[in-house]
Amino acid sequence: MAFTLPDLPYSFDALEPHIDARTMEIHHDKHHAGYTNNLNAAIQGTELEGKRIEDILANVSKHSGAVRNNGGGYYNHSLFWEIMSPDGGGEPSDRMNIHKAIVRDFGSFDNFKTQFATAAGTRFGSGWAWLCVDKKDKLFICSTANQDNPLMDVVPEEGTPILGLDVWEHAYYLNYQNRRPDYVSAFFNVINWAEVTKRYNEANEGASSF
Ligand code: MN
Repeated sequence: MAFTLPDLPYSFDALEPHIDARTMEIHHDKHHAGYTNNLNAAIQGTELEGKRIEDILANVSKHSGAVRNNGGGYYNHSLFWEIMSPDGGGEPSDRMNIHKAIVRDFGSFDNFKTQFATAAGTRFGSGWAWLCVDKKDKLFICSTANQDNPLMDVVPEEGTPILGLDVWEHAYYLNYQNRRPDYVSAFFNVINWAEVTKRYNEANEGASSF
């Protein structure tokens, strides 16, 4: 069973003005489709056919560069579409576990925003910024290069990503050109906190301490 490109859960223009329709269309239909097709080509006829993407990434050091780059690209973008929404943005409700965890682990929502924006802004070249959960249910922020992610056994800090921001130029250049910080600020207006808190709750099979 080959991997399939997931549909966007909203229309191309749904995230405007924060992320423009043309960027969303190219990003999903060309970039994400490319990673999906190239991942399928890289695993065809190998022992990886039929495995879950999470299991492939957890042992990615054993596999080819094509599996690492395209497996990461497939997974990262699949997460990225889901954690954005035209109804998103703002601060998560204080009834959500993710809000409680952010306050517990970063001191305040504003501190979290600052640290996340710094991770996104200081990633040199192409990559991602992540909010992750570790095995003890604690949140941490990190960034990875290229299409790597915290599920991979090649990164310094492994964890379960529950929020990710693509800072490749293809994600923002049409609308923001070199102004990555403006794109990062705009991203906070479309974060789907309901989805992020769901992923937080599921990260350690419901082991949340709240
Ligand atoms: Mn991308």
